[in-house]
Parts: sequence; C-alpha cells; structure tokens
Amino acid sequence: MNFKKSELIKKFGKNIFFQEDLSKYSWFNLGGPANILFKPESIEQLKNFLNYINNSLEITCLGAGSNTLIRDGGFSGVVIKLSPKFSYIKQIEKNILEVGAATLDKNLSRYAAENSIVNFEFLSCIPGSVGGTIKMNSGCYGNEISDILISVQAIDLKGNLIEIKRDKIKFIYRGNNLPDDLIFLSARFHAKNGDGNLINKKIKKYSKEKKDSQPSQIKTCGSTFKNTKNKKAWELIKDSNCNLLSFGKAKISEKHCNFFVNEGGASSEDIEKLINTVRQKVFDKHKIKLDLELKIIGENKKNV
Ligand SMILES: Cc1cc2nc3c(=O)[nH]c(=O)nc-3n(C[C@H](O)[C@H](O)[C@H](O)COP(=O)(O)OP(=O)(O)OC[C@H]3O[C@@H](n4cnc5c(N)ncnc54)[C@H](O)[C@@H]3O)c2cc1C
Repeated sequence: MNFKKSELIKKFGKNIFFQEDLSKYSWFNLGGPANILFKPESIEQLKNFLNYINNSLEITCLGAGSNTLIRDGGFSGVVIKLSPKFSYIKQIEKNILEVGAATLDKNLSRYAAENSIVNFEFLSCIPGSVGGTIKMNSGCYGNEISDILISVQAIDLKGNLIEIKRDKIKFIYRGNNLPDDLIFLSARFHAKNGDGNLINKKIKKYSKEKKDSQPSQIKTCGSTFKNTKNKKAWELIKDSNCNLLSFGKAKISEKHCNFFVNEGGASSEDIEKLINTVRQKVFDKHKIKLDLELKIIGENKKNV
C-alpha cells in the first residue's frame, strides 16, 4: 500500500477500515477482506478521499451487495460503501423525489406507497440499494428503475461532481452506458400521485408472485445469468440438466435454477466453478453463451 495507515486514519478517522471482512457486505455471505474499506459520510469527505488517493489504487463501489460475488482473496484496492448518511428520501418538488444512493429499494417503495406515489411498487421486491439498482437497471414484472428516473448525481474518481439527465443515459437490460468509474450519490425520480389502495394491492401481488417463484431466506445474489433474447436463463439451465449440479456447498436453488446458493460453508470459488460449469453445459447443449447478471469482484485466494 502506498499510503500510510496512520495518515489515512488521521484524515478519515472512523470511516476507514483496513483488512475488513467483506463477506458481511454480500448477500452470498462470501468473500475475503478489502485492503481498504471507506464509508464516506458526506460528498465533501468522499471528494477529499478521492483527491487524496488520486487514482493510485483500484476503486470499486458496493451497494447492498445483493448482486455481487466477492472472491475469496478479497479486494486489494479500495471498496467504497456509502454510509447511511446517503440513505434519505426528500420530496423536493410536488412531482420530484430526491433519493440518496444508499437508500434501500424497499424503503423507497414503502415511502412511495405511504405517500400514494405510483410506479415504485416493483422496488419492494428488489433487495438492493438505489445506487446498485441504477447501475444494474434492475427491475421486475415489466418495470425497470430507468422508467421512473429523472437524473443521477455522481462523482468520478477525480472527485468531479456531475448531474446526468435520464435522456443522456442509454439504459439496457440490466445495465447502462455510463462509465464504470462513476459513483452514484443520489437520484431524482418522477413522483406521480395515484390510488394508495391500488399501490398496496400491487405490492402484495408482486410480493406473492416473488414468494411463489423464487427462494427466500437463503444466501444468494438473485439471478446469476441474464435472460437471452429468446429464452429465460433458467429455462436454458434446466434444459441442460444443470439443476442438480453442485460444488461443495454451492448449489442451484430447487425453486429457481438461475439462483445459485451458498448453503453455508461454500467458498466464492465453489460458486464460480458452478457458474463456469453451467455456462459450459448450456453452451454445449444450445450453443448459447450466457452473460452474467451477477458482478464478480476481487481476487482468488492465493495457495500457500
Ligand atoms: C433474493 C434476490 C432477489 C432479487 N431480485 C431481483 C429482481 O427481481 N430484479 C433485479 O433486477 N434484480 C434482482 N436481484 C439482484 C439485485 O438485488 C439487484 O441487482 C440490485 O439492484 C443490486 O443492488 P445492490 O445495491 O445490492 O448492488 P451491489 O450488489 O452492491 O452492486 C451491484 C453493482 O452496482 C454497483 N454499485 C453499487 N452501488 C453503486 C453506487 N452508489 N454507484 C455506482 N455503482 C454502484 C457495484 O459496483 C456493482 O457493479 C435480486 C437479488 C436477490 C438476492
């Protein structure tokens, strides 16, 4: 590390952590330590940190960790996880909500329901944060976060703040064309009033559909692969006889075979072996290369 630990502590105090175990930050409950984990409390502090690091270390950002597999060797650079100070919802105008990027989708959906604001119902089913959800353009039941977005505020790794309007961003299925090195800080959303009863009904309907079709209370990061143009990833996986595959305690969910699961005691390497084997088997049978929806970060554990 080029930076003295004592200097970083002096500058960023209780918001900086060294060799922090990342497994508790991922829904898989897997992954080695981060060399540096930084949890900024304000935009100013994040800006100072980025200026201080001056692009000399690799930086990645974690939201709620519900779509990220962290490798067993951890992350040798800096992981930035926005602190709860970035979790807020403000109605800044009658028709506009401003939401901090660390806000959980479920909390945003609940706020919208309580205030009879429509089109946030689907977010009740997504266990991510607003920042991760914009990055992934997450969605379900025919909705995506880009449908309700007005603009995003972000910071680049040089510490420059930018505001990007929705119409300047090309959103695609589970992604967008923004540079990978942007950290989203907040977003503005259309707040359209509607019928509170209908909103609650929709949330209940989505939640039941999710419960019926997907596993819950397990260590998973949701869908592993993206659906293809003509077929759902789970159909291809099932049709390639992969649903009973396992490596150690890394298994495929019986309820939804695009959900890979740490049954307790798996390693990230086991999950990756499962990913690679499934991908190969699907390719052998269908000549289709499945693309990962899951993000993978970090390094493999070194053999000693
Ligand atoms: C049980 C379960 C069900 C799920 N169901 C769905 C579903 O129905 N639909 C769906 O689309 N997804 C689903 N997911 C996947 C996941 O919840 C979404 O992709 C979610 O939006 C990821 O948000 P996150 O904050 O957890 O992101 P993370 O996993 O923390 O990060 C994902 C990506 O976003 C980036 N990122 C995170 N925060 C920021 C930020 N502030 N600025 C810039 N980049 C950032 C990360 O660097 C990473 O590349 C499910 C996952 C689980 C575990």
